[in-house]
Amino acid sequence: TEEMIADVTSKMKEDNIKFIRLQFVDINGYVKNIVIPFKEEDVGDLFTEGMLFDGSSIEGFVDINESDLVLKPDIRTYSRLSWRPEESAVCRFICDVWTPEGKPFEGDPRSILKKSLAKITKMGLRYNIGPEPEFFIVNIDEEGNPYPYDEAGYFDVEPLDKGPDFRRELTFNLEELGFEVEASHHEVAPGQNEIAFKFKDALKTADAVITFKQAIKAIVDNIASFDQKNYQVTFMPKPFFGVNGSGMHCHQSVFKGDKNLFSNPNSDTGLSKDALYFIGGLLKHAPALTAITNPIVNSYKRLVPGYEAPVYRAYGFKNRSTLIRIPAARGKATRIEYRAPDPSCNPYLAFAAMLEAGIDGIQNKIDPGDPTEINIYELTDEQREDLGIKVLPSSLWEAYHSLEEDEYILNALGDHISQKFLELKYKEWDEYRVQVFGYEQRKYLDI
Ligand code: GLN
Ligand code: MG
Ligand code: MG
Ligand code: MG
Repeated sequence: TEEMIADVTSKMKEDNIKFIRLQFVDINGYVKNIVIPFKEEDVGDLFTEGMLFDGSSIEGFVDINESDLVLKPDIRTYSRLSWRPEESAVCRFICDVWTPEGKPFEGDPRSILKKSLAKITKMGLRYNIGPEPEFFIVNIDEEGNPYPYDEAGYFDVEPLDKGPDFRRELTFNLEELGFEVEASHHEVAPGQNEIAFKFKDALKTADAVITFKQAIKAIVDNIASFDQKNYQVTFMPKPFFGVNGSGMHCHQSVFKGDKNLFSNPNSDTGLSKDALYFIGGLLKHAPALTAITNPIVNSYKRLVPGYEAPVYRAYGFKNRSTLIRIPAARGKATRIEYRAPDPSCNPYLAFAAMLEAGIDGIQNKIDPGDPTEINIYELTDEQREDLGIKVLPSSLWEAYHSLEEDEYILNALGDHISQKFLELKYKEWDEYRVQVFGYEQRKYLDI
């Protein structure tokens, strides 16, 4: 509305904005932007008409013969970029991508999430999500190889933990960007950190995950150039063999008004039937979901036994070896934690796909079976089979074939994204499978 435009314009003047970044993501969830100088008289048109751009070189978008697209900035996403200069400052808006005909572009991941959210809104419900992205800070040695920048472990303090100043700086910046930082700590692996933040509504949370990754990388890059060091942040799921990888566990709940649909104080577990059905839906579609929540070759090096990452399609209450854990919180805070996602995923697509799986569970009353409370990592294959516990895909190859076979999830992603995504993953796998690694040379050279 005109009032919102006037408000944001005066905010921009107050913040000394000179440049506006119009941001969106490609099919991988990588941030893209175009920068325009801030001119007060043009702001109205920008929000009503948007800005034409050529989408042909954006991964997963369109072919050259139909490349014109429109960026429509979402006025509610205004944010001054804390890591850019305060004088002559820079702000950004997250944009929806539209076709010139004035329709949401079906290759835009944000539109796909919006479509799934519209579905649950129609059911009178709201989908909340709280992610826990983990990341490594690494140094790069003279040969270009990464190594962890400290030797600390879970919850360690300085001098072992070299992270307090990083996390302090990151927390200040994230707060300036509108994040409510809940807690930060050193994670299990050397060089590994976690900063948990509060968010609820799934669209805002997906925007926030993108901002979070972008901000952290930019800020650490600034610190590195200031210190003249080779620090780098990575959200790669498994940067080092033999230690924990980085996950992005997703806590999720569904609300009807201010009532948590997952809570039922009168049941044995404190969970409602709908919570169990939602779990049933997630478990049913888990193989296909994995292609979306764990989208790169390296993701599958994390999903192995022994490192707190899930391998098995099961759920439990205290169990951290299962795909789904139900944290002890009850009442309004009742939620389920889906532990497969890693921070390399496109959060718009991942949240859309998980939500759709949950909706299938609720609508078709999918029974998740009994919870598993034993450490599944320690079972033999036979014991697991007796218990009927299936495994998650163990490679990108397996995952995209599972996705190919799950019409419900493909449908949720729409034809455009489904087709482009599968094409892309097929290519990625093909590129990977012909490589020869140091590991193979060491193991087989004697042959
Ligand atoms: N890093 C673990 C994972 O890969 C999670 C560790 C934790 O937060 N408990 O999922
Ligand atoms: Mg955590
Ligand atoms: Mg963690
Ligand atoms: Mg967790």
